[in-house]
Amino acid sequence: MSKIVVIGEILVEIMADSIGNGFNEAIAMTGPYPSGAPAIFIDQVARMGAECAIVSTVGDDDFGRLNIERLASDGVDISGIAVDQDRPTGSAFVRYRSDGSRDFLFNIRHSASGLLPESEAAQRVLVDATHLHVMGSSLSSPAFVMMNLKAARAVKQRGGTISFDPNLRKEILLSPGMAEAMKEFVALTDVFLPSGAELTLLTKAQNDLDAVAELLALGIKVIVHKMGAKGVQYYDANTSKFIAPYIVDEVDPTGAGDCFGGTFVALWYAGTDVTDALNVAAAAGAHAVTKRGPMEGAASYETLIEFMKSKERAV
Ligand code: ATP
Ligand code: MG
Repeated sequence: MSKIVVIGEILVEIMADSIGNGFNEAIAMTGPYPSGAPAIFIDQVARMGAECAIVSTVGDDDFGRLNIERLASDGVDISGIAVDQDRPTGSAFVRYRSDGSRDFLFNIRHSASGLLPESEAAQRVLVDATHLHVMGSSLSSPAFVMMNLKAARAVKQRGGTISFDPNLRKEILLSPGMAEAMKEFVALTDVFLPSGAELTLLTKAQNDLDAVAELLALGIKVIVHKMGAKGVQYYDANTSKFIAPYIVDEVDPTGAGDCFGGTFVALWYAGTDVTDALNVAAAAGAHAVTKRGPMEGAASYETLIEFMKSKERAV
């Protein structure tokens, strides 16, 4: 049996209905929406029909149940989700500013998401993993770094594969041991999924092409550089290709990278032709931004094929 697994935070997101700054006055908000980058990623993997699981902790509350029910009904194995009796499920309040940037108010570190999911059920899920997706935003403490590293080493030793979305802020690299851990993640990675400036975040080289050469020399098999509405640049040892974006009206950009990544990883892992996989993933990213709510844009393979027929590509 094959299984794609991710370790990381499950959250709810609650979104302001109006554009503006912060949460300093009473405003109308909509939510809770299921969220958390690893949760969105794995939900999309399940929507593609692949066997998959998430290892995480939620609280014994409606925010946790809302997520567990969505993930389960979309086909994610939820046995590795621990329910903590003490801490609440993590949450993020978000409000868009007029320039398109976002104000966040997080409760993650001190929520259930800050607890290492070490249950026996979680261990069983990790032992069964044949592919691990490492999410940089989930490497939030030395304990989570170590749990991901141990799992990644074990998967590779069993002949499995690793994908890595750095999704990191530069400052995180300054915390003790982080730069070394990132080096090891890169060395273990088969599929690298950086977005924007993350392509050169973990390399000595500081321009794109030298960074690509450096990463491929370290053993990375494929590099998929996400560039938002500008599309995707793909690299492997033999080829480099540009994947044009689909033209859509962006409603909510949150979750695009994770829906893109979940689609690409599921198809790549299944042995799909890489150009086909990139095109469907580009559709998944574009589809995601047309829906309000971070996980609401996740879509089945059939929906994505219909979407691809109905949309124009940028040239
Ligand atoms: P996130 O903000 O979720 O972390 P990301 O930075 O990891 O996202 P993006 O580059 O924003 O990832 O999105 C991934 C892919 O989805 C893009 O490379 C593109 O193919 C598609 N995509 C994202 N936004 C748009 C858009 N506005 N229009 C068309 N396609 C888009
Ligand atoms: Mg990203």
